[in-house]
Amino acid sequence: MRLYNSFTQKVEELQPLEARKVRMYSCGPTVYRPQHVGNYRAYMMAEMLRRSLVYLGYEVEHIVNITDVGHLTEDDVADAQGEDKLAKEARLREMSPFEIARAEEDAFLRDLKTLRILDAHAYPRATEHVPEMVEMIKVLIEKGRAYEVDGSVYFDVGSFPAYGRLSGNTVDKLVAGASGRVEDREDKKSPHDFALWKHDPKHLMQWDSPWGKGFPGWHIECSAMSRKYLGDSFDIHTGGPDNKFPHHECEIAQSESFSGKRFVQIWSHCGLLTIDGAKMAKSKGRLATIPELLEMGYDGADVRFFLLKQHYRAPLPYSTESLDEAKTVRGRINNFVHHEMTERADGPDQPGVAAAIDDARIRFRAALADDVNTSEALAVVHTFMTAINKLAPARADAEDVVGFMHEIDGVLDILDAAPAADLDAEIDELIAKRQQARTDKDFATADRIRDELVARGIELLDTPQGVRWKRI
Ligand code: AMP
Ligand code: ZN
Repeated sequence: MRLYNSFTQKVEELQPLEARKVRMYSCGPTVYRPQHVGNYRAYMMAEMLRRSLVYLGYEVEHIVNITDVGHLTEDDVADAQGEDKLAKEARLREMSPFEIARAEEDAFLRDLKTLRILDAHAYPRATEHVPEMVEMIKVLIEKGRAYEVDGSVYFDVGSFPAYGRLSGNTVDKLVAGASGRVEDREDKKSPHDFALWKHDPKHLMQWDSPWGKGFPGWHIECSAMSRKYLGDSFDIHTGGPDNKFPHHECEIAQSESFSGKRFVQIWSHCGLLTIDGAKMAKSKGRLATIPELLEMGYDGADVRFFLLKQHYRAPLPYSTESLDEAKTVRGRINNFVHHEMTERADGPDQPGVAAAIDDARIRFRAALADDVNTSEALAVVHTFMTAINKLAPARADAEDVVGFMHEIDGVLDILDAAPAADLDAEIDELIAKRQQARTDKDFATADRIRDELVARGIELLDTPQGVRWKRI
């Protein structure tokens, strides 16, 4: 797998710390309002990377966090100011921040299912990992990388010379471009130092700490949770483009100061999903949520296809025209698999079909291994379908074509389930073929058909009335 690393700004060969095993962390949702399709672009990118790695033979452990405290409204500077997004929403909706967080988390998990995004191996919540954050902050203070002021703790950016390497926002540049919005509290050593722990008696969520009651900063949450689940060093950290600075820059400073080790091998960021030429964002402008898109008649897999069509790093403008096109093209692929290739007459095998499958498989793998190039992978599928249609395969070849389409759909996950009646007829036909093979004493073929049925979740039962089957 060759992957673009935002840190080096180069495409690099992925070399996991443990052979063939990839540990991956993705910044998850801030659960104060419904997530929109722009947010899902970031999660889709991470899960396609994961699915591609699995297809290429890696084992992947994937963690996605839930931010339910500490993410403040003015988050484009490291030491964010403003109100906690959850606390603000709680005030506006007259609900508890925990109620909002759990409801939005449920909605997030539902949307993931709709988009067929694989479940992460864990979804740690920030509010349930405060002791791990406090532990890390204590060590940072002991190491002279952080200091307390009136119950708040700040990271000393001056103690970490590599600050700015990921985003280009080195302290020199930040000073030159200081917008005046960087809080220059007299008690901070530098205006660029950012809060690890905040003392604020008005905040709705408070935890005990060695520095008194308070709540954690957003950046320390991901340092502490990634460490707990994946260790001091892991392979891939993903996020949306706006996470690069300040969030990920600060995570690097905290985690590397804490452990003295390299934090992440490859930083991976998707491009923006835009609407009306600007970032789609919860805080402003027009949004499209997943339930809204379903209401408009799109299937979750249409939205998935729309997100896959563009390379993950390129900007992606949202439009209903693009969603319509995704729906049409996906319909064509489904039709190819469930009708064109299943309604075939008997006839001789053609060597061209097996060759087309082999060629498509090689090119599909190569596209995914080349920085998860899903737009190229879909182009391979399209070329393959055109080639197969020209060859007009007979039944046996067409079954192989369908088998290959299911193989690649293990990665893309864009096909609909076969229409039930067609599927049942197909299974009855395979069982009849197996019976014939047994009668002919061709046990190799009989076994192969049984294995194929098992792979499709079908169990055969020998009964006095003949062979019956059930789905397992
Ligand atoms: P949030 O819920 O605001 O913390 O965002 C969750 C994830 O969505 C983060 O990784 C963001 O970087 C990402 N994200 C937010 N808006 C967009 C967008 N318009 N395009 C791509 N990614 C986004
Ligand atoms: Zn994060």
